[in-house]
Amino acid sequence: GSTIGILGGGQLGRMMSLAGTAMGYRFITLDPTPESPCGQVTPQIEAAYSDEDAARKLAAKSDVITYEFENVDAGVAALLERESYVPQGSSLLYTTQHRLREKRAIEAAGVPVAPYREITDLQSLTKAAEELGLPCVLKTATGGYDGKGQAVIRTADELETAYRELATSVRELVLEKYIAFQAEISVIAARSPKGEIKSFPVSENVHVNGILHLSIVPARIEESIQREARKLAEKLAESLGLSGLLAVEMFVTEDGRLYVNEVAPRPHNSGHYTMEACATSQFEQHIRAICNLPLGDTTLLSPVVMVNVLGQHLDEVVKRAGAPDDALNEFGVVPKLHLYGKNESKTGRKMGHINLLCKDVQHALDWVEQTQIWRQG
Ligand code: ATP
Ligand code: MG
Ligand code: MG
Repeated sequence: GSTIGILGGGQLGRMMSLAGTAMGYRFITLDPTPESPCGQVTPQIEAAYSDEDAARKLAAKSDVITYEFENVDAGVAALLERESYVPQGSSLLYTTQHRLREKRAIEAAGVPVAPYREITDLQSLTKAAEELGLPCVLKTATGGYDGKGQAVIRTADELETAYRELATSVRELVLEKYIAFQAEISVIAARSPKGEIKSFPVSENVHVNGILHLSIVPARIEESIQREARKLAEKLAESLGLSGLLAVEMFVTEDGRLYVNEVAPRPHNSGHYTMEACATSQFEQHIRAICNLPLGDTTLLSPVVMVNVLGQHLDEVVKRAGAPDDALNEFGVVPKLHLYGKNESKTGRKMGHINLLCKDVQHALDWVEQTQIWRQG
């Protein structure tokens, strides 16, 4: 069988390799962390991502190379493309590593983004805030995740503080208009090199402290908006010449308009619900897409709520996982627990997730509320 090399050994790599192993592929990962989540289930080259010798070693052992995060060093990406086969290519990585490049590419595809301005200094920030109107969100152009590297600005006197706070780490910033959304949603689209495209059902996403807390599927928004969201994601996949997966995060305004917030060229936390709730998981679909196999059926088999297990939730979740839970039985909710095997549990760190299969998403949401595990956020 062929060997797939994964740059990055986190939970996304782990779940990719578990899905791909069931399909007969072998895996190897490159990650600096000893016994990374992926390295616990596949061989691992333990080295820095920027280590060119290690990247060469990965290339030599792999027939196909993929990645599980977008901040891959450009030099390493080029090396891997030269010495192995990287169906996803490096150009989409380059685009999605930088919020300005990303927004321009989305606009070029004819897909709406929230109004924004490029910020280079405090003066341009003041001007941009006047043009866009407050509230706004200031974001570093590179390196942000889980809401890190951004600040909401509500009044003009907050501009300077926000600028000083964020401009210390990264010079290039983006100011976005704050979108008063009725919901945040995402769509994961897959495209194979031969041009087949399929998208997964829309997920409604709830964030707490900037970190994804819940994915609710079916999303509680109008059918017509859901169809439009999937169409936009598929249009982006086509326009970007995608091979693999593209996760597209969007805002839905009160009057039903859609704005793309950001995209990620890989499996995404908001697609974990597919593992038990869809005919094909996002991880299997990713392997299918990069290996140029026919894409799998994306039909939703059951309503589902995915809830993230962060460090502060882990002990309680593990304690309860084996025990019959009256609340669950009462609601007819079937919980499927996934843990990532991370060595160190920390507040705010993603340690696992639970897919709550249910007859109605409200039953699962009621259960999440009742257990009190997630009460503190
Ligand atoms: P991720 O972990 O998804 O990569 P990130 O750090 O890249 O997150 P964003 O997705 O840009 O950050 O923003 C995090 C959250 O902050 C969004 O999911 C949304 O809840 C809120 N947010 C970001 N930008 C805006 C905006 N322009 N208007 C309203 N809310 C926003
Ligand atoms: Mg992001
Ligand atoms: Mg996001």
